[in-house]
Formats: sequence, C-alpha cells, structure tokens
Amino acid sequence: MIDRIGRINHNTHMANRSWSTEALVLSLSSFGEIHREAILLTKDQGLVRAALFGGAKSRFRSLVSPFHTGTVWLYSNPVKNSTKITDFDVTAYRAGIRENLVRSWCASLAVEIVSRSQGIVDWVLVNSFLDGVAVSDEAECRRALLRFLWRLLVSAGVKPDMEECLRCGENKENEVLYYFPHEDGCLCSNCARPEDRHFRLSPDSCSYLFTVEHSPQRMRGRGQ
Ligand SMILES: [Zn+2]
Repeated sequence: MIDRIGRINHNTHMANRSWSTEALVLSLSSFGEIHREAILLTKDQGLVRAALFGGAKSRFRSLVSPFHTGTVWLYSNPVKNSTKITDFDVTAYRAGIRENLVRSWCASLAVEIVSRSQGIVDWVLVNSFLDGVAVSDEAECRRALLRFLWRLLVSAGVKPDMEECLRCGENKENEVLYYFPHEDGCLCSNCARPEDRHFRLSPDSCSYLFTVEHSPQRMRGRGQ
C-alpha cells in the first residue's frame, strides 16, 4: 500500500507476502548444500537479504548475479522472518564488468561499500556508476570510482570542508591546499606546517572535486 505522500509501507509488503521491487544484486553467499542468499539493494526498501533456492540447473544461477539490476519478485514469510526470491527479470546485465580486472575491482569496492551502508546509498548514483564502469577503459574506471566515492561522501554529509582553511578560516580558492586528516579538513599554504604537508591538493584537484560535487550524475551515462 502506498500512503498519501507516496511512501511504500514496509509492513504492508510484509503482510502481503508476495511483492516486487527494483533491485541491484550486491553479493551472493552459500547456505546449505545448494542454496544461496543474495543481498539486494532495492530502490524503495533499502537492503534486503533473500534466499535463492535451487541447484546448479536453476535458471536463477545466471540471473541473480552480482552487478545485475532488474525487477525482483519476493515472497516474505513474517512468521519465519524470511524472504525468498521467486523471480528476477534482469534489465541491466553489465557483462563488461567481468571482462576486465580493473572494472571488477572498481565495481566490487562500490558494492562492498553499499552492502555496509545500511542501504542509504542513492539508487541512481550506484546504478549509473556500474553502468559506466561496465563500458569504460581502465583509466576511466579509476576516475569514475573517484567520482563515485566523492559523491558518496557528499550524499552522506561527511565530505571534508574544502571551502576554507581550518586554521585561519579564509577562503583559499585557486590556491594549493593540504588535506589534514586529524581534523578532516584543509589547511592553506600559510597555515600548513611542513609536517602537515603530506596530502597536497592542487587548485586543479580542488576544482575537479568541486565540479564532481555540483554536477549531477546521469542514469545510463558513462559514470560521469
Ligand atoms: Zn590558513
């Protein structure tokens, strides 16, 4: 049931037992001899753990696979407090991720972070990142990962302050800054002592991060 402001009521889903949603497969692990459990990022219900029954011949083996996004049909048993996947219609396979190690590493790091985020990661951000990585060369993948991580920090509200110096408070646009991990902020050239100068940020680096923060990511884009 959808309430007046359009939120989908989780309890109603559970009572209905059979429900469907858009989902991204983050990981699969084995349980029992032949069964598996999938961790899904859903578009409207955050992270969902769902059992996947069936042996090697099950068609689910190829459909419910990490980095795949699609519509999932689930059956929840509120008494047993368990959920199982009954069908999965894949809309994005992203086969290119498995063809290259750098693509795989970048995609794996992203889904690992999403798995540990309690599901608060933006749905469009992670899906467009994976779309981009699946078709990008290695250099593009590394830049896409950097943009993804920075946008994640921005959306979680934990991005370090790059606008002004921690010590003098002055806005140092177009100047070299030094990231200061102890206070999670930046120091200007006047304030940074030699021992504070481990992490130099050129004006180009700062403006790159600023641009990434203020340019919207695109669904089905190349991970820009
Ligand atoms: Zn300063």
